Amino acid sequence: MEQVKNYKCPCCSAALIFKGSTQKLHCDSCGNDYEPETLAQIDEADSAAQSQSKYQWDNYTPREFVMEDSPFAVYACPSCGAEITADASLGATVCPYCDNTTILKDKFEGVYMPDYVIPFRVEKNSAMGILREAAKKKLLIPKMFKSESKLKEIKGVYVPFWMFDCKADADITYNAQRVTAWSDSKYNYTKTDFFRLFRSGTADFANIPVDASTKADDEYMDALEPFNYNDAVKFDPAYLSGYLADKYDVSVEDSIDRANRRIKSSMESMLRRDTMAYQMVQTASSSIRFDNGKVRYALLPVWMLNVAYNGQMYKFAINGQTGKTIGNYPVDNGKLFLLRAAIFTATAALSVGIFYILRKWGLL
Ligand SMILES: [Zn+2]
Ligand SMILES: [Zn+2]
Repeated sequence: MEQVKNYKCPCCSAALIFKGSTQKLHCDSCGNDYEPETLAQIDEADSAAQSQSKYQWDNYTPREFVMEDSPFAVYACPSCGAEITADASLGATVCPYCDNTTILKDKFEGVYMPDYVIPFRVEKNSAMGILREAAKKKLLIPKMFKSESKLKEIKGVYVPFWMFDCKADADITYNAQRVTAWSDSKYNYTKTDFFRLFRSGTADFANIPVDASTKADDEYMDALEPFNYNDAVKFDPAYLSGYLADKYDVSVEDSIDRANRRIKSSMESMLRRDTMAYQMVQTASSSIRFDNGKVRYALLPVWMLNVAYNGQMYKFAINGQTGKTIGNYPVDNGKLFLLRAAIFTATAALSVGIFYILRKWGLL
């Protein structure tokens, strides 16, 4: 005896039929069979994955940095607008972001107290050494990128970051397939199985950094990660001595979106890794939720060097804790021309060989 139920197949949406013989709901369209209990579980999973995502952060109000007889002053760069905190006795210096030479002393106000700081571990000599070695490996860069007096201009800057902590839950459903093919002497066969996958998980996020300065290039700052937060210490003004500190100019509210996007994509890729056994995996619905996310304000150490060449600014940044480096060198067109001319006087076959070797070594 067969009885029609008002259930839809979770895999292909066709109507299901309850079969008395198997005590299961059967789909004629895709061939799947379901225990009634399984359908109830799928329903539950679906409604979890369809529930609205919720990213809820606690309020955070930064504390004003108040210091009697502050040894610090704020310097403003009239060219790029950066506001830098540094020793009041700081001599002539250039802006770490745009290399402008006339940064001006301003009143010490509107500076906020970081909750913690990762102190510099890479010292100035080592930072210069990193760039010196990197430049040595490049054949075709202009001389000034190797000049000691230029390398000396490197500056240690504490870059302000908003740090986000939360414990998030995720429920995601996927439609997926598995295709098997085989053949016998007469025919080739292809069988496609359809699946509805359900994955859920919880993850603790600690110290998701979002750079809080519009002057610090987001891409550069992301590329300098990771920082090791075991070294983070409670903020003390002593850490600023000898360094510059940037003042944040992106509010918590304006940074939350980036934090949310990072949480979402981490959760999604974490759960996605568990669907590798299937093909054509497509997200059907996804829900990510957390309450009471914590926000804190931190300063992270970055060495910065700017080199102006041919009307363009080449920026180099080094993670002041780990030494990880980012930056691109230009090619000196004069040198490139000479090299090409030399190569074209050689035989065609040989020039191809030379170019191949240079490329392989990453020198061109
Ligand atoms: Zn079906
Ligand atoms: Zn500037």
